[in-house]
Parts: sequence; C-alpha cells; structure tokens
Amino acid sequence: MSEYQPFIPSDPDVRLVGATPHVQPRTWSGPARALIHAGTGTWRVTGTAGSGVSSVVIDTVIERIRQGWDPSSMLIVAASKEAAGRLRREISELVSGLDYVSDGPMVRSVHSLAFALIRDSSDEDVRLITGAEQDAVIRELLRGQADDGRGGWPPEQREGLRMVGFARQLRDFLLRAVERGIGPDDLVGYGQQFNRPNWVAAGEFLREYKQIMNLAGTHSYSASELVTGALTGPEPRITYRGVFVDDAQHLDPKSSELISRFIPSAELTVIAGDPEQSIFHFRGANPDFLIDFGADHTIHLEESFRRPSISITVPETGSAHNDVLADTVRREHLLGDLAWSDIAVIVRSAGMIAPVRRVLLAAGVPVHISPTDVVLSEQRIVAAMILGLRALTEDLTPLELEDLLLGPIGGADPVTLRRLLRGLRQAEMKAGGHRRAIEVLRALLIDDADDELLAFLTQRELELLDRVRSVLHAGREAMGGSIEEVLWAVWSTTKLSDHLSASSLRGGAAGSQADRDLDAMMALFDAAGDYVERRPTAGIRNFILHISEQELPTGVRERRGVSPEAVTVTTAHSTTGREWKYVIVAEVQEGSWPSLGETGTLLGQEELIDLIDEDIDPDTIISRSVDRLAEERRLFHVATSRATVQLLVTAVNAPESDEVREPSRFIDELAETHGVAIDHVEGEGDATLTEPEALGHRLLSVPALVAELRRTVADPGELGSRRRQAARQLNRLATAGIPGADPAEWLALREPSTDAELVPPGQVRLSPSRIEALMNCPLRAVLDRLDSEDETPIAMLRGTLVHAFAEAVARGADAVRATEMITEAYMDLANVPSWSHKITEDAFRRTLDRTHTWLLTSRATFELVGIETEVSVNLSDEVSISGRMDRLERNASGELVVVDLKTGRQAAVQKEMGEHAQLSAYQLALSRGVLHGDRIEDPLSGETPEPVGGGVLVYPAHEAKGITTRDQAPKSQEELDEFAALLPELAHLRRGPNLLARVNPSCGNCPVKSLCPVQPEGRLIHA
Ligand code: SF4
Repeated sequence: MSEYQPFIPSDPDVRLVGATPHVQPRTWSGPARALIHAGTGTWRVTGTAGSGVSSVVIDTVIERIRQGWDPSSMLIVAASKEAAGRLRREISELVSGLDYVSDGPMVRSVHSLAFALIRDSSDEDVRLITGAEQDAVIRELLRGQADDGRGGWPPEQREGLRMVGFARQLRDFLLRAVERGIGPDDLVGYGQQFNRPNWVAAGEFLREYKQIMNLAGTHSYSASELVTGALTGPEPRITYRGVFVDDAQHLDPKSSELISRFIPSAELTVIAGDPEQSIFHFRGANPDFLIDFGADHTIHLEESFRRPSISITVPETGSAHNDVLADTVRREHLLGDLAWSDIAVIVRSAGMIAPVRRVLLAAGVPVHISPTDVVLSEQRIVAAMILGLRALTEDLTPLELEDLLLGPIGGADPVTLRRLLRGLRQAEMKAGGHRRAIEVLRALLIDDADDELLAFLTQRELELLDRVRSVLHAGREAMGGSIEEVLWAVWSTTKLSDHLSASSLRGGAAGSQADRDLDAMMALFDAAGDYVERRPTAGIRNFILHISEQELPTGVRERRGVSPEAVTVTTAHSTTGREWKYVIVAEVQEGSWPSLGETGTLLGQEELIDLIDEDIDPDTIISRSVDRLAEERRLFHVATSRATVQLLVTAVNAPESDEVREPSRFIDELAETHGVAIDHVEGEGDATLTEPEALGHRLLSVPALVAELRRTVADPGELGSRRRQAARQLNRLATAGIPGADPAEWLALREPSTDAELVPPGQVRLSPSRIEALMNCPLRAVLDRLDSEDETPIAMLRGTLVHAFAEAVARGADAVRATEMITEAYMDLANVPSWSHKITEDAFRRTLDRTHTWLLTSRATFELVGIETEVSVNLSDEVSISGRMDRLERNASGELVVVDLKTGRQAAVQKEMGEHAQLSAYQLALSRGVLHGDRIEDPLSGETPEPVGGGVLVYPAHEAKGITTRDQAPKSQEELDEFAALLPELAHLRRGPNLLARVNPSCGNCPVKSLCPVQPEGRLIHA
C-alpha cells in the first residue's frame, strides 16, 4: 500500500473559523445538584466511567465562579499535566460567557502545585527537569561509575551499568523511593538491614546524583522529588476556599498528603474519582485517599452516560486485522460522518502505537499521537536535524552522509542520489583521482565546489547538492553563536517549515505527519532553550549528545488550544478521563494484555514499595500476580469504557502461525458480560485482504479501491457494464490526482523503453563466473550487476582486498607488511560499527593468514605458472570465454591447474564439484587455448593446448581447522564438449533484450527478487 500524498499548494488559502463548542451545559438532579449549587464541607464523588464524575467537579467550579467566587481562590487538581489541560479547556469553554478574572492557572497537576509551593517558599532558583533529562544524567553517572569501578554494585550487576535497561530500572527504582520521601541514607540503611547490596549502591548513587544536580547552581527537581520537596517545606501560606480533586484514584500517598494540607481551611472540598479505574499502581498510585477520605457527604453516580454498542472482531491473520482496523476507521469517517478526532485506537503498550500508526497512515488516515508517547530523538525530523548538526562538527560515516541527503534536509530520492554519486565518480576518474564517490561528495559538502567536477552533474543533482551545501554552510556560519542560533540557521535554511505548514493546513494523513514534524521541531527548540539555560557554556556537541541519548519521551509544552483533527492512537494508560465517539481497542492478545511481568525486578522495586508502604519484609515471598491481573483488568475496563457511541474490540486469532497469537481472556469476558457475539474474520496466510468478499464489504481505503477498480477493468470475465463503470470511476480518480488511477502509471501498459540487445552484435564474451550465474538465473545474472554497480558491498570489498593480498605476496611483497596495509585499508573502508570493530578485524586477519599459509604450503604440490592470468579463448563465432584466473599452477604431472580464491564463508559441497561451472569453464578454456606470455589465447597454427589437471577452489575465510579447499577432477574431452555445447544458449540468454527468470535454490537471497516476475514480490499486476 502506498502512502497517499495529496497535492500541497505552496501558498494555500487559509480561512479561520471559530472553534466548535464541544461541551454543552448540563443539568443535574439529586445530591449532585445539591453539591453543585450550594454544597459546603467535604464531599466524595465516585461513579463508574462515563457517569459524569469529572463533570460534577467542573460544574461545581463553574457554579462557584457564577456565584462570584474568585477563580484563584479555588484549587483544582488533576492527576497529570494532560488531564489538567483537558479540564482547563472544558472549564474555559463553559465559562467563556462569564465575567471573571483569574491570575493563575485554573487547573493544576499535583506536580505543578508542588512546584509552585516550592518556588513560593524558596529564595533560590528552582527548575523542573524532564524525565528524559533525568534519564540522560543517570546514564552519564552510571557510565562514570562503570569506567572508574566505583559504586559498590554487586559484580553480577556491574556488567549492566552501561545498558539503557539498567539505567531505566534504576531511574524507576529511585523515583518510587523519592516519591515516598526516601533519601540516600534511608536506602543505604534498608540495603544494610536486609542484606541488599544493590539497594546500598542505589542509595550511594542517589547521593551522588543529588550532589551533581546541586552543583548545577539552580535547584533542579525531578517530578518525583517535587511533592516530597513541597511537603518538607514550610506550611503553605496560601489557603483556598474550594479544593477540588479529579481522578483521585491516580494519586500516590505523598500527593494525597500534600493536597490534604489545604482541606482544613477550605469551605468546600470535593474529592472525586473511581476506584475501579485505578491503573497506576506501578507508579505508586492507589485509591486509598479516595476511599478513606472522611467526607461529610458521599455521592455515587451509578449510571454511565456512555452506552456504546459493542462489537468484537477477531481476524485470523495480522494483515487481515490491519485491514479491519483501516477499513473501520475510514468507513466511520466517510460513511458514519464522524470527524477523525471523534475516533481513537487504543493499544496496550507504547510499542504498539507505531505499527498502528503506519497502518492508518497507509490508508490515508490522519493520526495524532500524544507527545508524551514519543521519544524526541526518534522523531524523523529531529533525527535529521541532529544529523545536520553533527555534520558541522564531525565527519559523518558514508552511510550517515547518504542519510543526510536522503532525509528531510536533502530530500533526495535514492535514484537521484545514486546518479549523483555516479556522476561524481566519473568526474573523479576523469580528473585522475582515486577517491570513492562518497568521499568526493563529502569534500564537496565541506569545501567550495570545483567547477570541473560539477560539470558532470545534471540540474537535479546539482540542486540536491546545493540544498545540502547551503544548509551546512549556514550552520557553519552560525557556529560562533549559541546552540539555538546554530539550530535555527540549519532549520531555516532547509525551508522545511513553509512546506510543512502548508501540508499541515491541508490536513489528511500527510497533514498529520507534518503536524507531528512541526511539534517535534518546537520540542527540539524548547530542549535547546532549556539546555542553554541550564548549561550556558556547553557546546553544540554536548547538545547533540544530550538529545541523541534521550530514551524517554520528553513531553511537549502545551501550546495547542484545540486537539488536532486526526484519529488518536494512544495507550490505555493515557486514556483516563477521556472519551471519543468511536473507540477501537486493538490487538487485545493473551500474553500482552494482561501483561503479568514484574516491574523493576533487577533492583527489587516492588519489594521496596511493599517495605515502605506496607512494612512487608522484602525477603517474604508474596505473589503479586493476583493484584497485577486485577490491575490489568481495570486497565481493560478503562480502555473499553471510553466510547460514547461505538466500541470495537479486536484481536488476532492465529494459533497455528509461527508466532502464535490468541485473543486475550478479557475478550471472552467482555463478550459474556455484554452478550456480544465474536465476529471471526478469515484471512489467508499473511496476504492482504484485498478481495471485498473477505470483509463482507470493500476495504475502504484509496489503494484498495484503486486496486479493485483496476482489477475489474482488466478482467475479461467481468460484465462489460461493470468494466465500463470501473473505468469511469478510475477516470474520476485520475482526474483528482489519485496515485495509481491513471493508466499512464500502470507498469503493465507501458511500452519497453528500448528493445535494443544488451550486448553489441557479434560474439558474446562470457566470463567463467558469469557462466555460472547465467546457468542459475539469467535475469539475476544481469540485474545483480546493475544493482551492485554503485556500492561496494562489504563482501565484495573483502574479496578484492584478499585477492590483492594474494597477488602482492605472490609477486614478492613482504607478507607481514602487506597484511598490515591491507587490513588497515579494509577497516578504513568497511565502515563497521565500533562494537564489531575488533571481531571484524580479527576475522579479516585470519583470512589473510590462511591465504598466506595456503600460498606457502601448496608449493609442495604446485608450481606457480601465472598470477591473475588473462583468458581469452574463442569457442565459436557466437561465443568466447574471457576472464582472469586468480592463479594458474602446474602439478607434479606437468598439467595446468586453475586455482580460484573464494572469500565467502560457505564452501561448496565436494560431491557437487564435478558440476562447478566456473572451474569447468576454465578447464574448457585451458583445453582449447595455449599460454602466450601471461595470457591464455587461441592457439596459433601448429600449437596444441597443454594437458589440464583440473581446478581447485581455496576458501581462506571458511572457519575450519585447516584450510578448506575443493577440487574439480580433470574433465574428459567428452565432458568438455558437452559443457561447450551449453554456451551458445547462455550467450543467447545474455544477449537479451528479454531475460529469463529461472527459479533456483538461491532465490531466497536474491537481491532483485522484488523485480522478479516469477516471485510474488515482483509479479506484474496486469493493469
Ligand atoms: S528471484 Fe530467483 S528467479 Fe527471480 S531473479 Fe532472483 S534468482 Fe532469478
């Protein structure tokens, strides 16, 4: 499926329209009405999901504003920043007609409240560091401890200090401790008391961490430290008339304690929530505060306003599931008249968001992902900018240089890049240079262009080069300035902001991607600003490292007043307090939902929490799976209670597939509770469901529709009227610019660009290695060469260098020196990642050693006749054999033996050596030609070929005790004639222009499989 890219005008007409109000005023009766209009004292409001618990809180606040309360005399607390944003938006919408002034944010998260309290009571500068920043500091400190052997970690854990996973677990462990007011000394104390050396080490680590953070000048608090920081400060000076807490089941004990400080002086307190939606136990939250709060009045709202109809669909394959997902979303938008933003897809974990996003984008659905679910450095646009910044300060590897040109900065397609490299290589050769094309490119990006070099490039290639050069040039010019200035210079020169803004305004799938890119860039500039503020003297390299090392979502500053017009894809945990008209809870699989794995096992996080909260000895073995299952069930309940109109729950049922997938037990429970039948959808293998019947209706996405219309038009078995109708619809789609609808784009209808033969008229010269490839598959033999023409794969590079070594040593070069020089060249060019540097170098040295050993030991059997001996022997008017033998030797009987060095790791099977085409071809050439100097040529009159003693393959890279060789016995005259008789046919196949695709055992690793008409991947779709 291709991603639909609508046409984006460069200067779109923009019309501003007023936001549509989402919230209608509500009316209440009974105790809720009493609370809203005249309640005083303390109230607890609970109720099932969708029963209006949050609405009671909001309406009480609004009624108090209406009654003249000063908004700043009310403390409204939400469990998270996102929830606070949503409550704030709703309150703002409902009070927009009222006359009021507020001098502070109307709704706060607990952390924002704690931060404000600390700031008010402290004279020093305080700042909040993000989870991502904290993560980076922890990793840096851990690396330091690993390097210096410090830290007191148990030996079995010391190995893991550099690992991201270890840092992550340590961070969570410390968060849970700090949230509970546990400091370094307490942790060390617990560790000693209960013989847990890693708790002692974690305590010491926390001490070092705090010292480092204090050194930064300002007092930096992480989110977990804020609440305990505020609690240890003086009693707050401020009091509130009203205290309102929404979703109180998500509070941890310390947050509850902080809020409790404001209750005694308040005229009205409302603590609201639903214990059944308590799903953050892993973060230390529990519903105790909500349940145990000693309220004067209690309201329980029984009836949910959300009464969606429920359906459950269980496809049999992953791709059928994806089709159901894309089809449902598109259908609801196009036919069900729902706005994209009325639809949400909910998944169990953050890792499942990206695949769902891809599926929806491919079907032309705009997708919104909460920034709290995304890691900044993993954003496509951020990664490109960071690469651009790196290009200013360091040498990029060849692969990174290509990425720079192919990514958003260069904007090149692979074909243009390839042409550019080819042009540069030709120019370099013409100028007598020996640099690789990518190195020429690197030089061009740094220095002024050489006009002679540029003359080899087309306009398009020049534009690409200019674009990247100007971005890097602007960056370099700005290098004396601040990090933000450099980043701005690079970003503004790319001119991507105009393009992305236009695309974003246009909406749709491309628009949602553009939105995401723009948000990510804002977050990157925010991060740069924060970084400069915190470390004013740090350079650009440190900033690059700081961003690249972030492994956690940073969160983006709340700037949007409205939610984007796109389908929300989010995790179940992020859906609390939210609702949509249509909700799909996707891929509810056994094994992932419920997820019963323990959290923080490395450091015993759960034991620590139980010790602090419940005073349970950490050595007591207790089962937590019952609690965990209950929490997972509550999470599923939260996810399935977000829909107001329609809920669809999906899972894949593929018990027979390689990766066994079964629907979660929760699906059956849901079906049973609501009396819903499970709809099973069939799907074949991993093939996409393109047949309309398979879904009971047509898959409603642009690519699927175009495919169906094309199939109908081209099917002679279809009714004429249907074909005509399909043609009319295709015409409409083509006029609207839909890709694939215009027959001019249909590959099968295109005429070949040429019918010229691939080789000039006359004799076809076949090289022995080509003969073998042609025998296997003529199509691959020809295309393979084109495919690898521009790049030198590492295997080919290794082969070339080992051959060069063998030749140099045979010609008398010093083996030790040759080994050093060639190894150095290999490691220079191979561009392997640093972690595999040593292994790669050792393996390469071993190959050279074995080659040298064979050269020495084989002298007992052979006498050298020639190195890199050229072969050019005519077999007939139609075909000749031409090539180069690695070595030509003479055996003890005086016969010529051809030797070929093979640098692959797999050796041929000795039993099959009789059929080895390359050696057979050399034997044939030797049997028909004679040695003239260092060439095997046609015999002159009176000359007769020398006897041939067979051939040998030598495998120096094959890991075996000795050196692996494979022999081909001398061929008889009949055998050689038989072989020669095959060659005219091969010459014919080589000549083209039609090439034969022959299925053979090596198809599995064929690099041109996607072009091959006999493979499913490359099969031509007729019309
Ligand atoms: S996939 Fe097989 S048949 Fe097709 S080109 Fe490659 S080797 Fe030939």
